This record gives sequence, structure tokens and C-alpha cells, in this order.
Amino acid sequence: MTTTYAIGLDIGGTKIAGGVVDAEGNILHRLQVPSPTDEGADTTLDALLTLIAELRALQPAVGSIGVGAAGMISWPSGRILTAPNNAYRDLPLQDLLSERTGLPAVVENDANAAAWAEAKLGEGIGYRNVVVVTVGTGVGGGLILDGALFRGQNGIGAEIGHLAINPGGGVQCGCGSVGCLEAHASGTALGRRAREVAATEPAGLLSTLAGGADRVTGETVFTAAQQGDPTALGLFEELGYWLGAGLASLVNVFDPQIIIVSGGLLNTSDYLYPPTRASFNRHVFAGPHRTLPTIVSARLGTEAGLVGAALLAMERPLALVA
Ligand SMILES: [Zn+2]
Repeated sequence: MTTTYAIGLDIGGTKIAGGVVDAEGNILHRLQVPSPTDEGADTTLDALLTLIAELRALQPAVGSIGVGAAGMISWPSGRILTAPNNAYRDLPLQDLLSERTGLPAVVENDANAAAWAEAKLGEGIGYRNVVVVTVGTGVGGGLILDGALFRGQNGIGAEIGHLAINPGGGVQCGCGSVGCLEAHASGTALGRRAREVAATEPAGLLSTLAGGADRVTGETVFTAAQQGDPTALGLFEELGYWLGAGLASLVNVFDPQIIIVSGGLLNTSDYLYPPTRASFNRHVFAGPHRTLPTIVSARLGTEAGLVGAALLAMERPLALVA
């Protein structure tokens, strides 16, 4: 049986968002608190339990709890192995939540949860093979293959941001490797490259807008691109080149029906998409001889992780029976 209501929780680096979600993905009640920064797991667990109690008071018929959490989450145990931007380490969150609330709980990687929501309720409706790529501060995403969320052997699959796209280029990734997609095609990468380029053009628009080359951000690049600045447009060309190569690599392996792009850089799509599509077409395998997936912007916004976690929680009892 599918439960009618689930609580969805999205643990990010700065805040925990929670909501009561129905089977159609509607958020009926919504609350949020800042992410605890104190060392130790108890503070995060306590914050989650408080949110859950408040949400259950608003909707007593809640039947399960789904959590989308940043970091590496083992599957199916729902144990958070590590989360670089949060205070906790090695936290068996799924078991703890079940024990403390008496409800079945599912803990999933936040990008997977958001991808699931986008596939079930957003642009992925009707497709069984969907690639979701989130381009924001970092690069993440999820894979829906043959209608199911792909997790890999340990739950750590689909780390799209760490495709080794340019290992010879020498650009360090936050993960410790070199040349990952995230190191070349994220908002962070855009800001870093923009500061490098602006330093060589101290009188250029980027430096002028930001008040100095070292203060240039991705936002500065967007503003300058809107004014037709060739340096800013060149930076989007560069970002799109790497993103398009990454998307082509994913299509070469998974042959999806659709690629959905989400995340904070979507508002720059006028500048980002043309070079991305050009690079995609250049790098995709057998392009002239196949039906290529459409590349579209995500329909769901920042609530996708919360909603996806709740949907996964509603489905989990079925998965356990199977
Ligand atoms: Zn990496």
C-alpha cells in the first residue's frame, strides 16, 4: 500500500526544509530551520525530530518519512557516510529516524531525491530513461534507468559532477581528483575562471562591475554577458563546452530519452545553452544516426529534493516487499 502522506526533509549545507507531501507531490505544510553547525550528530538528529514532530502535529496521518541529504549515503541502509558541508559524520540516520518516530524512513542522497521528483512530476513524466544534471555551486544529478532510480552497488552511483572530463587540464576538484566535470562546468568554476580572466583585463567590464578582478563572481559574468561583453560570453562558451562534453558522455553511456538540466545556473541558459548544445552535438556518439534526447530545463524548483524524498518514502514499503 502506498501511504497517503509522507514527510519530506531536505538537509542542505545551510538549512533543513521539511514538508508534508501527498501522493501527487503537493506540499501541504512546510517548515524550515537552519542546519546545525555544531559538531556531532545529535544536533542534526534533534533538529530533524523537532521538524517531524511539528509536521506530524499539522498532519497526523503521515505514514512515512523521506530524507534527502547532501553527502554520501549508503543504500539501502540510509547511513550518511560523509557530508563535507554538514556537521555530522557516519550517521545511521535512517535507523535512528525509524526508531525515534515509529515510522518507516528512507534516507537518500539529495540529488537522487530531486532527480526522482523531476522524473516523476516534472519534465520526466512519461519517460523511463532520464538523466537529470544539476548545475549550480557544484554539479550533481541523478539517473532514472528503466523507470527506476539508479543507485549503484552502494548507493553512491550517479556522481555526475565527478566525471573525469579533463584529467590532463590540471584543474583541481573539491573531491580531490583533477579535471572533474564539476571543476569545469559549475557556478564555482565559472567564478574561478572569471577571476583568472579578469586579472588579465583590469580595465575590462568584469573587473569594473565587481570593483576588482578578485571580487568577480558568476553573477558578475551573467550581468556582463547581458551587456554583450565578449569576455563574459567567452566564459559561457568555455563552461558550455565542458558541460556539453559531459552531457554527451552521459548520453553515450546511458542513451536516455531526455536530459533535464536543473540548478542555479538555469537563469543563464540564454548564454549557457547554445555552446552546451554545440559541444554536445560535437561529442555525442553517432549523432547523425540516432534519435538524440531532448535537453530541457527542469520544471520543479528548489523543493524538488523535499518532494522527491517524500515520494521515495511512500514507495519504499513496496520495494521492501519486493
Ligand atoms: Zn571531483
